[in-house]
Amino acid sequence: MSEDMIPVGANESFQFNCSKENKCFNECCRDLNQFLTPYDILRLRKNLNISTEEFINKYTTTHMGDESGLPVLTFKVVDNELKCPFVSDEGCTVYGDRPASCRTYPLARAISRNRDTGKITEYFALIKEPHCLGFSCEKKQTPNEWNSDQEIIKYNEMNDLLMELISLKNTTIPGSLDSVSMDIFILGCYNLDRFRDNVVNDDFLAKHNIPADVVDKIKVDDELLLKTGINWVKYELFGMDLNF
Ligand code: SF4
Ligand code: SF4
Repeated sequence: MSEDMIPVGANESFQFNCSKENKCFNECCRDLNQFLTPYDILRLRKNLNISTEEFINKYTTTHMGDESGLPVLTFKVVDNELKCPFVSDEGCTVYGDRPASCRTYPLARAISRNRDTGKITEYFALIKEPHCLGFSCEKKQTPNEWNSDQEIIKYNEMNDLLMELISLKNTTIPGSLDSVSMDIFILGCYNLDRFRDNVVNDDFLAKHNIPADVVDKIKVDDELLLKTGINWVKYELFGMDLNF
């Protein structure tokens, strides 16, 4: 852990407040190299009322992760300040659907999963960066209170499913995926509106005895759609059952 990362317990207080009154307002939305999770993309595309494909093409850049060999999507930054495409003088224009990393900052979160029970344990650290003046404010809260205040619980639940998939891929298929497997991964995890069109709507799930009412629900429920996409990737790449 770097010297600017300070471990903090889930119920241990830290001093921090983010406010428009802070001189650093919006500084954290510049000089970005911010990765986006599938759930981030679902929320942002809904906020903008566009498809996942349009969002990915217009607002993201994709590169391959060195260690995972999997695609990593980041914001396509704007101008020479490397600004987020959604920052304005008044703040974040997609605030209600901002990504998990924007909600979590100034915390970093890591997890470990018990192999036998699947139980997740969370670990937190404070990220102290010189530009962020929030630590000089008096307001106190714990990481658990911060997560609740920032409405991040659902994001963590969805993002932990992706982490589990990445871990499975790295143990089963180390290194890069072949191009067919890569297309499956991108379709089931990121381009979920196309996944809905290609897989959910073409009787694929019915052929796998998924009840019709569940299929109907997947067509309108983004969280279930993402869970289904991840399950479908596990089925296609690792031969696992389609669980619902
Ligand atoms: S206090 Fe930190 S998080 Fe808040 S606007 Fe300033 S730099 Fe960003
Ligand atoms: S999404 Fe909003 S909070 Fe996150 S970097 Fe962009 S402008 Fe800032």
